[in-house]
Amino acid sequence: ALVISIPLGFFAGIGGASNAGVLVKGSNYLETLAQTKYVVFDKTGTLTKGVFEVVGVHHNTMEEKKILEYAALAESFSSHPISRSLKTAYGKEIDQKRVTDVEEISGNGVTAKVDGTSVAVGNTKLMKRIGVEAVECHQVGTVIHVAIDGAYAGHILISDVLKPTSKEAIVNLKKNGIKETVMLTGDIDKVAQQVAGELGVDRVYSELLPADKVSKVEELLAKKTEKEKLAFVGDGINDAPVLSRADIGIAMGALGSDEAADVVLMDDDPMKIVKAIRIAKKCMRIVYENIYFAIGIKVICLLLGAVGIANMWVAIFADVGVMIIAVLNAIRTLFVKKL
Ligand code: ADP
Ligand code: MG
Repeated sequence: ALVISIPLGFFAGIGGASNAGVLVKGSNYLETLAQTKYVVFDKTGTLTKGVFEVVGVHHNTMEEKKILEYAALAESFSSHPISRSLKTAYGKEIDQKRVTDVEEISGNGVTAKVDGTSVAVGNTKLMKRIGVEAVECHQVGTVIHVAIDGAYAGHILISDVLKPTSKEAIVNLKKNGIKETVMLTGDIDKVAQQVAGELGVDRVYSELLPADKVSKVEELLAKKTEKEKLAFVGDGINDAPVLSRADIGIAMGALGSDEAADVVLMDDDPMKIVKAIRIAKKCMRIVYENIYFAIGIKVICLLLGAVGIANMWVAIFADVGVMIIAVLNAIRTLFVKKL
């Protein structure tokens, strides 16, 4: 009963999860998920759609169209959500032959040569790095500064929107035993605070480089007990090291790369994290039920046998009967109530 029902319970858990669009890469991750008490999120592409719209171009020293063209071309080799949005805003076919010397500095931006002119596109950290004075934006949004030929050329203000289910996911995580939700982002503090406020996330850390995200997660890992697990949810862009550092790494499958993740959400829906945790908890509950049940019945039968009450039929029930019941119980893991 044990040998058959325990693996079967885990298989059914993994099967039920994939049926719900959650890919769990091993049964040990179900156990970790069930013990998760802290959920740390990346912002862009995880809680927000990562589909930015260009809201405005400010302080530009040349035509708006020209700046967008330079930015889109310089970003043409990047897979970051910001880059994709700039390419969409530019709207025209991009001739990558015009772009050379591309360097993507994660958490900062991109530098490249476009038609031989050096272009830098990114945040204030990048501007500082290349020694260009950036002009602050007075509006709330993600600000992408552009420097051309070593001179400030203006900034592009883009804004992202929350995923429709992000708030619901935060609320439901709390209802399912999660102690604390944390958001990490490389974006500026103003944007981070606004998003966190809207979603009701417990804590926010902003303006982090990918390496800072790792040290933040390590800090959080050090504070909790061994039994309480920490999950990191990201899109796999710029956050692969964090995904592998957390007790369990959950990645958005449709947007980023997911090799570093233990669990992949196929349709990028944050509510699926709640679903995954519920499936994992149910799975663990059923596995333990089966263990106690199988061992319990056998012990009772042994005792009955020792005092001479048990007969052959009791023995058969203790063996085959218990196995069938345990197997049927394990199969229940396949089904988890809709949320
Ligand atoms: P998040 O933590 O919200 O997912 P990232 O770490 O991916 O954000 O990026 C942090 C910040 O770095 C962005 O808000 C942006 O300012 C800058 N950045 C990163 N990659 C790029 C890029 N390809 N082009 C322009 N800016 C970028
Ligand atoms: Mg990211």
